[in-house]
Amino acid sequence: MNKKTNLGFATRAIHDGQYPDAETGAVSPAIYPTSTYAQEELGKNKGYEYARVSNPTRTRLEENLASLEGGIAARVFGSGMAAVNALCTMLKAGDHVVCGHDLYGGVPRLFNQVLTGYGMEFTYVDTTVAVNVERAIRKNTRMVYIETPTNPLMSISDIPAISQICRRKKVELVVDNTFMSPYFQQPIALGADMVVHSTTKFLNGHSDGLGGVVVCTKPEQAEKLAFIQKAAGAILSPFECWLILRGVKTLAVRMEQHDHNGRAVADYLARHKKVKKVFYPGLAAHPQHELAQRQMTGYGSMITFETGSLNHAKKLLKKVRVCCLAESLGGVETLISHPATMTHAALGEKGRKAIGITDGLVRISVGIENVEDILADLDQALAAI
Ligand SMILES: *Cc1c(COP(=O)(O)O)cnc(C)c1O
Repeated sequence: MNKKTNLGFATRAIHDGQYPDAETGAVSPAIYPTSTYAQEELGKNKGYEYARVSNPTRTRLEENLASLEGGIAARVFGSGMAAVNALCTMLKAGDHVVCGHDLYGGVPRLFNQVLTGYGMEFTYVDTTVAVNVERAIRKNTRMVYIETPTNPLMSISDIPAISQICRRKKVELVVDNTFMSPYFQQPIALGADMVVHSTTKFLNGHSDGLGGVVVCTKPEQAEKLAFIQKAAGAILSPFECWLILRGVKTLAVRMEQHDHNGRAVADYLARHKKVKKVFYPGLAAHPQHELAQRQMTGYGSMITFETGSLNHAKKLLKKVRVCCLAESLGGVETLISHPATMTHAALGEKGRKAIGITDGLVRISVGIENVEDILADLDQALAAI
């Protein structure tokens, strides 16, 4: 460990886990594409035996992400969903989880279509009202799982308030911090017991690799998850680990620019006659703008807006040139998508309607291009609807 927790965020992003290689002095961490490690004699090794269990590139990434989220350890997995699945395998049949009702679509798909088959139970509530969480907690509840802000409606849940409920009820609080990244939101400092990320998004930041992480606050969590890495094997490859280590070095400057561009795009959309509604926590009109100010240090670059109909959304998405029509988010390039038919298709029409995902909604992950180019692109595309 070479932890420099007394240093600032940008410094830790660049140095924690990213120290020069002891053998060669290489400033950039090495990628170790090895499946196994030579042992000097029986029972004598350098701490590495087999790459499913551990890999030096992975160790460095885990140190780095634990530092950025203020946890004691981190465990990385092959994708965000693999991380959520690993987290849930810490539970057992008969255990109950209270979750937010507008999570990333893949999460309820895993819960409802896979994990309920193994006897786990899930209840979905609107976690923007903390007391809803309290009411849904039962005797067999082991975990509360929330995303804040949510995808795609950008609703904010009060992490300290929910954390107090969880403490009282002796239930662990898990926060998916993918949208804000540790740069703008520190769930552990706000009371979360574990933090989850799809590192595919802002942490990697370059749309070139999948990954997921669970950041822990207790040694038992870290040990259990390390065991799950070894036993179930959904680990992240050394090359993907390296991509995230490289991406994370610029997280602070990227997030600043994402936030700057995000605010400009949200302001523009809020003033546009053809846009019916804008969901962005940085707008004073956002229902939880004050809470966002309290628990986040920026608003990021995820914006959802209402075009009025499927037809309008289709026309707009066909016209964009700088914005790339694609799933995913958090890359340097602006990505634009249609939640109803893309990220949230698995919910079904009824499921979407219940939480307010209409056919006219468009989600934009504002990149770090010149913001005037993004605005001009949206302007010409909106003119077509
Ligand atoms: C993308 C995403 C996930 C799933 O991560 P993958 O890396 O795609 O498996 C989970 N939660 C949120 C909020 C996401 O945006």
